[in-house]
Parts: sequence; C-alpha cells; structure tokens
Amino acid sequence: MKAQPEIQRKLIDLAFLDSQLSNINSKIINHPLKLRVTELENRVPGIEATKVENESKIEELKKQINRVEIDAENVKKRIESDTARLNSSETNAKQLPQIQHEIQTMNAKLSEIENIELELLSHLDELGITQKNLIKMVEEVSFELKIQKNNLDIEINKLIEEKTIFSKSRDKILLNFEQDLIKLYEKIRLDHGIGAAILEHNKCGACQITMSPAEFEQIINTDPVEIVRCENCRCILVRS
Ligand SMILES: [Zn+2]
Repeated sequence: MKAQPEIQRKLIDLAFLDSQLSNINSKIINHPLKLRVTELENRVPGIEATKVENESKIEELKKQINRVEIDAENVKKRIESDTARLNSSETNAKQLPQIQHEIQTMNAKLSEIENIELELLSHLDELGITQKNLIKMVEEVSFELKIQKNNLDIEINKLIEEKTIFSKSRDKILLNFEQDLIKLYEKIRLDHGIGAAILEHNKCGACQITMSPAEFEQIINTDPVEIVRCENCRCILVRS
C-alpha cells in the first residue's frame, strides 16, 4: 500500500489522538470513584436489613414487656384481694396464716416480675439506641453516596468533554486519508492496540523493538511512499 510521506506522518497524529481517547476511555471505565460508589451502594442494604431486624426485636420485646406488665397487674390484684380478705371481719382466724403466707409469696413474685420488667426495659433502651444509630448510619451512607455519585458525574462529564474534543480532532484528521489506508490502520489498531508509530532511529515507536541493521537498511531504502510495517508488532512504521 502507498501513501505520501506527509500523509503517513499524519498517521502519527491519528495514533496520538487514539491513544488519548483510549486513555480517557479507560479512565472512565476504571474511575476510582466508581469503586467508592459501589462500596457505598452495597453497604446500604446490609444496614437496612440490620435495621429491620432490630425493629422486629423491639416489637417482640414490647410485646414481652406488655405480657410482664399484665402478670404484675394480676399479682397486684391478688395481693389487694388477699389483703382485703385479711382485714375482713368475715375471715376466720384459722385462715389468716394461709392468707399471710400467700401475700408473702405474691409479694416475692411481684418483686421478681418487676425485676424482669426492669431488665427488659433496659434491653429495650439499648435496642432503641442501636436503632437510632442504624438510622443515622443509613442517613450518613446515603448522604455520602449522593456526594460521591455527584462527584463521579462531574468527573465523568469532564472526561466526556475531553473525549469530544479529541474525537472532533480525529474526525478532521481522518479526512486526510484514503479509505484503504484507514481500514488498514484500524485493523492493526484493533488487532495490536497501536495502528502506527514513528521509526526512531532503528527502533519501533510502538513496541520499542530494535531492528537489525539489515532490516533497518531495507526499510530506509524502501520507496518513501510505500507503507512499511514493524515485523514485531505489525504497526505502520512512519519514517521521520
Ligand atoms: Zn513494533
């Protein structure tokens, strides 16, 4: 394939723009903020699940406290009625020790129930604090996520703007080439990453391989309009 040397040199500009575009694309794909956003997004469901779990523990505990309170009320009623019987003129003296014993037992039971209730209430307080912390955590993570998503959008938009500028320059440069040359360039770029590079002394500007003096001489002696390629990386070698 043939191309005028000045056209061949424009392939270097094209390769430069392509390398810039490929750098920008990889910056977009591998942007470190994406990792941060994903990490934050993944944290939210876990905290939400713990929040729901804690909430149901609170509900269960409230039911348990309710049951304990009913028990306490029943015992109190029993003590009241026993005390009334104790003080009643209708109760005979034989029954008194039994009633007194029952009041004692009931008081001990009430004290036990009240202790259990206090324990449960203290546990309820702890769960309440945990719940508040979990709600705060969800808010903080969601807020951070919003900020990082916004930062990511700004960064990506900047890169897209840069990309647009390089793409416009690329479109302009493309007008210089014959279709066949561009097809060849694109094929090499697709297969090997770099479509064209400058021949620096006897070294390929793409793969950096140094060629033998014989090989180099052959390239130098080839008609300047003839397209030559690197034997190693297959890119178009542009003689300066
Ligand atoms: Zn090469």
